[in-house]
Amino acid sequence: MIALHGITKRFGTHSVFEDIDLTLEQGEIIVVIGPSGTGKSTLLRCINYLETPDAGRLTVGDLSLDVTRASRREILALRRRTAFVFQNYALFANKSALDNICEGMIVVDGLSKAEAHVRGREILERIGLADKANAYPASLSGGQQQRVGIGRAMAAKADVILFDEPTSALDPEWVDEVLSLMKQLALERQTMIVVSHEMQFAREVADRVVFMDEGRIIEQGPPDELFTNPRDERTQRFLRKVL
Ligand code: ATP
Ligand code: MG
Repeated sequence: MIALHGITKRFGTHSVFEDIDLTLEQGEIIVVIGPSGTGKSTLLRCINYLETPDAGRLTVGDLSLDVTRASRREILALRRRTAFVFQNYALFANKSALDNICEGMIVVDGLSKAEAHVRGREILERIGLADKANAYPASLSGGQQQRVGIGRAMAAKADVILFDEPTSALDPEWVDEVLSLMKQLALERQTMIVVSHEMQFAREVADRVVFMDEGRIIEQGPPDELFTNPRDERTQRFLRKVL
């Protein structure tokens, strides 16, 4: 289970959100939608301490930490259980696709290079890039680079994968291959939280869609309900613009 309780984040005097509660079961797929500047990325980043939350409790599996007094060890443990896929891929430019995927297994999990490469090649197979093991990011298409980004998250064997607009930096021609890899993970019941503007993806894949506005979760529900019958006026207004 993944749970956020009372998560609060401020930048200086600007409060992005206060007291956010959100719970996911193992295997659940959540898509977070909402207007720009609402705090979607910040919330995702708080879950694995890319941003330090100011208050609240984060629970991932049997690890539960109070963010106001989390130890460095707890934070590292939390990071291992939460993998992040970035909008701009954030690959190491000087490492091959295989080494990008293997880096965490070697540095964080302590696998030998040979062990990591065996698993890394399995992952390359699953993401459809078996023939690109030795290719550097610059020689890959945007779609291929993002699949490596997802492969790296898969390698972490995290409890949850956090995706922050994984297709929004891509040329339109590469979007589908990335979404279909994400659908494949969803079919395998990989727990994930996806911030996305891809409403069709949300409809097809999400167990639950969460609508955020101005630092608040306004409403959430199964895509069928939320898209066809939004209750809150803010959700209705947002959906009129994007659907
Ligand atoms: P978008 O859909 O455009 O990606 P978002 O919902 O992801 O928007 P966030 O990026 O989380 O929004 O930003 C929420 C608020 O926090 C915004 O007002 C933003 O300016 C502010 N913010 C985000 N990161 C920082 C930062 N590092 N320092 C100061 N303010 C920040
Ligand atoms: Mg964002």
